[in-house]
Parts: sequence; C-alpha cells; structure tokens
Amino acid sequence: MNSVIPRATLDAIKPYLPGKSIQDVQAELGLTDVIKLASNENPFGSPVSPEELADIIREVGFYPHLGSAPLLAQLAQKWGVSQDQLIVGNGSDEILTMIGLAYLNPGDQVLTAAGTFSEYGFVAHLMDADLIEIPLTHFTFDLIAIAEAITDRTKIVFIANPNNPSGTIVSQAELCQLMERVPSTVLVVMDEAYYEFVDRADYPNSIALMQDFPNIVVTRTFSKLYGLAGFRIGYAIARPEVIQILYKVRQPFNVNSVALAAASLALGKDAFIEQTLHNNREQRLALTSAITELGYPVIPSEANFLCIWIGNNAADCARYCLEQGVIIRHLASFGMSEFIRVTIGTPAQNQRFLSVLAQFVVIQSKGSPL
Ligand code: PMP
Repeated sequence: MNSVIPRATLDAIKPYLPGKSIQDVQAELGLTDVIKLASNENPFGSPVSPEELADIIREVGFYPHLGSAPLLAQLAQKWGVSQDQLIVGNGSDEILTMIGLAYLNPGDQVLTAAGTFSEYGFVAHLMDADLIEIPLTHFTFDLIAIAEAITDRTKIVFIANPNNPSGTIVSQAELCQLMERVPSTVLVVMDEAYYEFVDRADYPNSIALMQDFPNIVVTRTFSKLYGLAGFRIGYAIARPEVIQILYKVRQPFNVNSVALAAASLALGKDAFIEQTLHNNREQRLALTSAITELGYPVIPSEANFLCIWIGNNAADCARYCLEQGVIIRHLASFGMSEFIRVTIGTPAQNQRFLSVLAQFVVIQSKGSPL
C-alpha cells in the first residue's frame, strides 16, 4: 500500500533529541543522587514560587491575553524600545522558527556557523532553504568569512552570541563590520540567549545598532538567567516593520498565560538574578582553571557553560560522568566529537563534576576499559 509522503525537505531533519533528564538517569542507572549540567539551565532553579502563580493558574480556563499581560510593557521599558518592537514566543526556539516561516522561500540561503546551535539548521531545512555553514575560527563565529559568503540568494544570517557550544562572542566592531557589508535585504538574527552572562566590554549593543541597521533581529530568552526553561518563553526585539511580519506567522495564544505571568515576576527577582550572575562569574573562573589543571583545555567562555577538549575519548568521558550521576553533554551532534559541554552549576555541583572528571583522568591513565 502506498503511504502518505511527507515533504522531501524533512529528510534533512532529525527530530530534536534532548539530553537525558535526571529522572531518566535515575531510572536507567538506578542512581538516586543525579545532577544535570547538560542544558545550560539555571542551577538555582526557578525564582518564581508556585504560590505566586496560584491566581493565574485559577484562570487557566481562559485563553491567555497578551495585551493584558504586563510583560511587553516591562520588556519595552527594560530595553528602551517601544512595545511594537517586541514579540514573545514559546521559547526563543519558536521565535527562530517564526523568523524562518516569515522570511524564507524554498531555495533561499541561510548562513550560519558550523559548530553552533542546531535550531538554525532546523529552520532552514523546514523551509526548504539551503543551509550554508561557515567554519568557526578560534571557536568563534567568523564574521569576515560570513560576509564573504553572502550571495544574492542569502536571506538570513543566524549568529549565536555567545555561541553555543563554544561560549565565545563576536565583538561590537566585528558585528559593525559585518553589518556594513550585509545588504539591507538580508536579515541578521542575533541570538542572545546567553546575553546576561557576558562580561566582556566589547560585546555588541545590537539593540542600539538597529537604528542604523533595520535588518537586525535580537532574540532573548527566560530559559537561562531567569530560570524558566520549563515554561518555554523567549522574545524578539526588532524594528516595528519586522515585528509586524512576525505577528503574521504567530500562532494565536502561542505563549501560555502562566508563562507570561512567570516571566513578568522573574524580571523583578533582583536578588535571584544577582545570585545567579555572581555565582556564574566566580564559578566560570574557578571551574575553568580547575579543569585546565586536570589537563583539559577549556575555551574561554562568556556564557553559563564551558566547552572542554577531552580528545578521542570524549564520549567515554560523558558516559563515565553519567554513570556517576553527573549529566553533561558530549558534542558529537555539534560536529565536535572531541569536546564536552558542561553547564556552570552551584559550587557543590561543580565540585562534584570536578571530582568525577579527576577520577576519569585516573582511570584513563591506568588504561582501564570503562
Ligand atoms: N539559542 C541558543 C544559542 C540556545 O543555546 C538555546 C537553548 N538551547 C536557545 C536559543 C533556545 O532557548 P529557548 O527556546 O529555551 O528560549
């Protein structure tokens, strides 16, 4: 019997495979004490308590009403933009898909890096566009090579800044040079999911650059600093002309009412935000030097995770950590099979990871099979 044929472009897409959850690992390996440092979530959990959400949960019989949620006004004020420069999504993942739906025709080119977040490739394939991946240089988006790769078929450039998984950034000067060379008919998407963790002073001010370059779109998220990954809420900032187009492809009620309320509350949790940033700054430094001392080079990170070179036994290393109850990410799916990525956790979580890594070093030096 003939079967129903899906769109041919889907051949290029593998369903997104998330890393294992704490519950998966507990069940599979019979472990009780498991920590997850694999998805760059906030190690302190969520700043919003169930009690604070009780009122809105009582209202879930109604559809969410974005217009009556305070979130857009709060974000507009926070970033000095008007509300018509903002749109929310079911995670910034959904915003990236909306950008593809709105702008990509089959055969258009999407430019990004090789060794970056998989969602850009997903969006390109979904829309039957051609994905062009430019190698990273020093583990960093090579904006000169990207500028050179632009053709009259290029429609979108996706830049993760900081990049996932390397944690590196492009600077304001590099971005300005790119923008001067990019035609105004090409959308440049600055994916700033890890924006708040950056300390370098030369990090771009992409919102301000929109004055001169109306083809910039910035995406941000509540999943990382704000500890709301499970609620799925992110947003885009762009010129009103671009946001209007994105509203055309937005599903009605794409962000649920509880997530809208939680994001609003999270914006006001100053102590939690300060604690997270302080911990990340201190622990990023401490963890980087401790791992380096164990003999593994670490790419200097501006994000809330570290990308570590292990070598040809990186998969074994990730497996060993898992068996010891520490979930981390082996980077084979990013085309970096000699690397692992570990989220910066609390001091106790980081110590636990370090002692497991130290045990791994000992086992490897004895040549023991795992
Ligand atoms: N961009 C980058 C670079 C990411 O690493 C992630 C999370 N993995 C996202 C976007 C998506 O985040 P969310 O959909 O949770 O907002």
